[in-house]
Amino acid sequence: MIPFNKQHIFGPELDYVQDAFDQGKVSGDGKYTGLCKSLIEERLQVRHALLTTSATHALEMAALLADIGPGDEVIMPSYTFVSTANAFVLRGAKPVFCDIREDNLNMDESLIEGLVTHRTKAVCPVHYAGVACDMDVIMDVADRRGLVVIEDAAQSIGAKYKGRPLGSIGHMSALSFHETKNISCGEGGALLLRDDQHLERAEILREKGTNRSQFFRGEVDKYTWVDVGSSYLPSDINAAFLWAQLERLDEITARRKEITSRYREGFQALADDGVVRLPVTNDFAEPNHHMFYLLANSLEARAELISHLKQRGVMAVFHYVPLHRSPFYLHTFGDCELPVTEDLSDRLVRLPLYFSLGDAEVDRVVEAVRDFFVLSPGRTQ
Ligand SMILES: *Cc1c(COP(=O)(O)O)cnc(C)c1O
Repeated sequence: MIPFNKQHIFGPELDYVQDAFDQGKVSGDGKYTGLCKSLIEERLQVRHALLTTSATHALEMAALLADIGPGDEVIMPSYTFVSTANAFVLRGAKPVFCDIREDNLNMDESLIEGLVTHRTKAVCPVHYAGVACDMDVIMDVADRRGLVVIEDAAQSIGAKYKGRPLGSIGHMSALSFHETKNISCGEGGALLLRDDQHLERAEILREKGTNRSQFFRGEVDKYTWVDVGSSYLPSDINAAFLWAQLERLDEITARRKEITSRYREGFQALADDGVVRLPVTNDFAEPNHHMFYLLANSLEARAELISHLKQRGVMAVFHYVPLHRSPFYLHTFGDCELPVTEDLSDRLVRLPLYFSLGDAEVDRVVEAVRDFFVLSPGRTQ
């Protein structure tokens, strides 16, 4: 069986975990948290990177920092993971969904301005599959309308927009180190701050509403409760594991790129025949090859393809159920129509893609997909 995803241990992970114990400090903000922080700040060209327990928590922190409250509106795609919306819904805000582009499945930036009202506080672009949103257009709308831009960069570490790292363009950004992402420590994330504006409050929110970070730096002589907050910082054990992966960011991205190219070559003939569509990467985007998907021609063709692949020992999956079609959204906020999101989300299939996926396995996946269309052409309508 070729699984959909597999966590890879590069080697030094457990040695670094042992070393974290030897340092005598395995709670947050120890040696390895510092190493990860510096590398992310340097590679992603942001002023501050604060490791968090997840991208979900980084987004929750961003919502607090942006002062999102009841009645506020936040513009985002419906075609995303629930955390993009939940971070703001937790603060009493309403997610306002923007339809996606046919080509890269990202928020259609030309529709954003039409969704802005006097209640709009923020825009939350999601770089789907590690392919950049058109950030110049989004930043321009946000600047003119006074909106905060929070990038959901959960899938996009190492990817770029016109040469600039994703996560460095909006005011704040969230990275994920969940097991399904390119760089992983099981569960983990980071809040990125483009400049100094939110740093002081971010440190306090992350340390349970206390000024403990300032205390550890010797800036105050005791620490105490100064604001709301929660426990958003990960253990240094997680950071030690993460460091072994972050060190290999380029190597990991390069291998994923090879796998992606092999898939593309393998599927080109099917794409030429019009039975599947391959992912599109825009000129402005340099992706990190986070996922590889195909678009089937119909919901039925997708379902049959997934079950055919399962019989052939290949785990393929679809996602997401668009948030505007979820029971929670319908019950809480009512109906809304997003034709492109509905069409594409019904037809997308994700194929296995992980660092240790070998060429022979990629070829097996390609062959299994090809056979589906060649052996049963009637199913492809
Ligand atoms: C994975 C993901 C998240 C959540 O990341 P966690 O680290 O698991 O909280 C949020 N948004 C998007 C777009 C994701 O892909």
